[in-house]
Order: sequence, then structure tokens, then C-alpha cells
Amino acid sequence: MNPDKTFSFELFPPKTEKGMVKLQSTVARLAERRPAFFSCTYGAGGSTRDRTFATVDWLVSQGIDTAPHLTCIGNSIAETLEILNRYREQGIRRIVALRGDPPSGTGLGGGELTHASELVALIREHFGDHFHIEVAAYPEMHPQAPNFLVDLDNFRTKVEAGADSAMTQYFYNADAYVHFVEQIRARGVDIPIVPGIMPITNYSSLARFSDACGAEIPRWIRKRLEAYGDDVESIRAFGLEVVTGLCEQLLAAGAPGLHFYTMNQADPTLAIWDRLGL
Ligand code: FAD
Repeated sequence: MNPDKTFSFELFPPKTEKGMVKLQSTVARLAERRPAFFSCTYGAGGSTRDRTFATVDWLVSQGIDTAPHLTCIGNSIAETLEILNRYREQGIRRIVALRGDPPSGTGLGGGELTHASELVALIREHFGDHFHIEVAAYPEMHPQAPNFLVDLDNFRTKVEAGADSAMTQYFYNADAYVHFVEQIRARGVDIPIVPGIMPITNYSSLARFSDACGAEIPRWIRKRLEAYGDDVESIRAFGLEVVTGLCEQLLAAGAPGLHFYTMNQADPTLAIWDRLGL
């Protein structure tokens, strides 16, 4: 593995005991590859609060470098600080600071902090340099931004508030990443921007998820996946080829690492990892 590059794995907090057992065996297999850290998502408004804590507690108990995600939308500043204090007491040194998406139908929104930049500033104000702060980046633009240029400026504001590095939303077009990084560098922002990598294992759920988060599946990939219908083996084989090729392009273009959206499964990420010869 290239020691100059940062490789990390994202998990989500399981809903059931069975899911937790599965997560633990996934982590055991992925940890053998010695990633820089595992991150664990957090449901906006605290919807996964206790499950995120349980997952983070277990990861920490295993001596694993853990980066909890923390969203600010719908949370009070007092609650947010309480969570950050908890993490600091656990010896956690890295936080993924996000605005969050209110779960549909909850009416959640607003709150005391409405943008991730405010959460980043709050963390810096209360915790100094204790936490390494990761933020989200959108090479294909955040879906709610009025336009790409405004989104770039908002990203810069978030970095100026004190972010140390960024992880991107997933995408399947390496040019989008290269262009985003160029545009950000032209705005004087020099933090590492690590591409987020989503393995392809199932077409219908990927299509649904991508529509919701504004990630584009290029037409040639979509059409080929559609053509495979229920042929899961072919979808996985083609997905592996596409995503490995994307990772190779990104690393060759100077990406400072890769952040894998594992979806709590070891095999799809390990297949890419092994093909890349990391
Ligand atoms: P922001 O940086 O606040 O940006 C959100 C929107 O507001 C953008 O359109 C931006 O242009 C605009 N904006 C920013 N600042 C301003 C301003 N000052 N004035 C006006 N507009 C502004 N969601 C979860 O709920 N839980 C998770 O654990 C989680 N993990 C994620 C991990 C990664 C790596 C990524 C890429 C996303 C993750 N998300 C998660 C999704 C994320 O919460 C959503 O994409 C959310 O809609 C935006 O979050 P943000 O932190 O990027 O927000």
C-alpha cells in the first residue's frame, strides 16, 4: 500500500443484533488491510444516535481508529457539544462533520446550526485542534445548491471554518473529481480531497440511492447494468471492472487516497482492493 495515501472504510450503525454480528465480522476482515480509519454514519436529528454510539464504542474497544460522523441539522448546540465531549473522552481524534439530511416526513430542519460550516466552527471553538475534521465534498454538486459555483464557494467557507480534509460523495466519472479539485485549488483551498468510492453490487438500489443524493450513473454504465436484469453475478463482475478502473484513474490523477462506502459488506470492497493491488 502506498503509505502517502489514506484509505478508509465507512460503516453504518446496524439496526439489529444480527446486523451487529455481521458488522463485526466485516470489520475484522477489512481491518486486516490496515486502513487509516473506519468511519460510522449518524442519522440526522439523532435518529441513529444510540446505534451510532454502540458501533463507535465497539470499534474503539477493538483499538480501531474511529471517525464518527456527526450531523448538525435538527440538533441543539448543547446536544452536539455533549456528543463531542463523549467522543473526546473516548480518545477519538477524528470527526466527519456534516449538515445531514432530515429523514423524509420528520419535518426536521433548521435547528441552531443549519450548515456544516457552522458545525466545523463550533468544533474548533470548543475543542481547538483536538479533532481532525473531515467534511463532505460534491464533485457533481450538492443537489440543493443553486449552482456549481455557489457550491464551490460554500465548500471553501466550510474549509475556512477549520476543516482538515474532505471525503467526496460517490461518483463514476473521474473527470468530475479532477475538475472539482482544480476548481477548489483555484480558490486557494489546499486540503486533501479523498474520493468516496461506492462498489456496484445491485442496480436498482444504486439507481434509487443515486437519484436521491444527486450522484450520476453515466448512461453507458446504467444501460449495461439494466441489460443484466437479475443476473447478479454479471452485475458484480461488471461493477468490479468499472469501479476498479475508476479508482486507478483517480489514484493516477493524484487522489490522496480512497474512502470506501462499504455498506457493511467486506467482499465488494475487498475485491476492488485486491484488484488494485493495494
Ligand atoms: P453543507 O456543507 O452544509 O452543504 C449543504 C448545502 O448547503 C449545499 O448545497 C451547500 O452549497 C449549501 N450551503 C452550505 N453553506 C451554506 C451557507 N452558508 N449559505 C447557504 N448555503 C450553504 N448524512 C447523514 O445524515 N449522516 C451521515 O453520517 C452522512 N455521512 C456522509 C458522508 C459523506 C462522505 C458524504 C459525502 C455525505 C454524507 N451524508 C450524511 C449526507 C449529507 O449529510 C448530505 O449530503 C447533506 O445534504 C449535506 O451535508 P453537508 O455536510 O455537505 O452540508
